[in-house]
Amino acid sequence: MSPRKYTLLIIPEGSHRVRRFSIKRGIIQSALGGVVICVLALSLLIFDYSRIHFDRSELRRLQAENLRQRNEIQTLAADLQNLRKEMVILTQNDAKVRVLANLAKPKSDGTAGMGGPPEEETVAEFSELQRQIDQLRRTIDLRRESQEEIRGFLNDQRSMMAAKPEGVPVKGWMTSKFGMRKSPFTGKRKMHEGVDIAARTGTPIHASADGIVSQARTAPGYGKLVVIDHGYGYKTYYAHNSKIHVKVGQRVKRGDQISAVGNTGSSTGSHLHYEVRLNGVPVNPNKYF
Ligand SMILES: [Zn+2]
Repeated sequence: MSPRKYTLLIIPEGSHRVRRFSIKRGIIQSALGGVVICVLALSLLIFDYSRIHFDRSELRRLQAENLRQRNEIQTLAADLQNLRKEMVILTQNDAKVRVLANLAKPKSDGTAGMGGPPEEETVAEFSELQRQIDQLRRTIDLRRESQEEIRGFLNDQRSMMAAKPEGVPVKGWMTSKFGMRKSPFTGKRKMHEGVDIAARTGTPIHASADGIVSQARTAPGYGKLVVIDHGYGYKTYYAHNSKIHVKVGQRVKRGDQISAVGNTGSSTGSHLHYEVRLNGVPVNPNKYF
């Protein structure tokens, strides 16, 4: 059993008078309770304070990071702006090349001819940046398509150039022109569908353009004949050969030796009868010399 009352004695130093306090147990319990509550409240306060302190430093750190990221986004936005400007120049160049190549106007993505003052304060929005990147990507895709088309066109041009007859196929001298003439055999006026170039038998004859050998045989009148199909409607005929060096289906390049000058078929002397036909119609080879 604990006592109901406690007695507190206070004896001051160097004195004989004793102070005596009588305290009820309830009061002591209340005082102890008060102390416990005070301690609890204080520690709560300290905890709260340190948390606020921590939060504040975290806030400062986040603010600094936020600022850094904003700066990075600004830099990215500026870079993107420069890329868009370069893209506009590329688009304009593309359009010029297409004009040179006689190609239709390129598909527009709405960015061609864009420009104006830089939109500096608003571009830092992240969604705006994303939108601009998407647009740039679409522009790049369109330019890529256009470049492919130009490349295809240039390839066509190159093969067309390579397919067009050019130059004289043999070293010699022209003895008969293209056009109406008196036939050396019948004496009647007749169309001469090519040119005759006289040269010694065995003189090499060269293809006047790239193509595929479509005939290599002896033909009535023509004697030993080589015909090259160049595509794009062009064919060349080489007649009266003494020798043929190519086979049907063989691919030849301009300048390749295909045969040798001779006197086979209806011929009055060693020469090359050379024809250029465009879409099946003999044309004047002189235009291609
Ligand atoms: Zn002839």
